[in-house]
Amino acid sequence: MSVHKYYKITDDGKLIRLNPFCPRCGPGYFMAQNYDRLTCGHCGYTEFKKRTPKKETTSEESKKSSAKAEEPQKGKKKRKKR
Ligand SMILES: [Zn+2]
Repeated sequence: MSVHKYYKITDDGKLIRLNPFCPRCGPGYFMAQNYDRLTCGHCGYTEFKKRTPKKETTSEESKKSSAKAEEPQKGKKKRKKR
């Protein structure tokens, strides 16, 4: 068992706890991080992560192409087949 994966030591020598402890089981029982929740493999406690508000860039680039379709009136010549 390697507990080192639960910690991360920065260059300053600070110890960063990657996974939080389980509030039920107490310190020592890490919770597994899922994509949107934390789950304790010991008691099955699940804690949902807080959703970070996403900045929705509403950049409506509605480029109105006001290009007038100026079709030159061509005299349509009817070709009569002889
Ligand atoms: Zn637990």
